[in-house]
Amino acid sequence: MSTNTIRLICPSLRCRAILTAPAAARGKAVRCGQCGMRVKVPDAAAPVKAGPAAAAAEPPAK
Ligand SMILES: [Zn+2]
Repeated sequence: MSTNTIRLICPSLRCRAILTAPAAARGKAVRCGQCGMRVKVPDAAAPVKAGPAAAAAEPPAK
């Protein structure tokens, strides 16, 4: 399961807008549409852990 967008929360405590950035923006910065603050897009996947560990936790379909 892969997503093309990354969800971020604006770090500004007065804003806290939920932003979406394209996966291509990883490691770069996007601008918050609400307050204009630059938000760095993390290199890793979205805040929700959905890495190999999660996949391994699921039993293989038979
Ligand atoms: Zn903001």
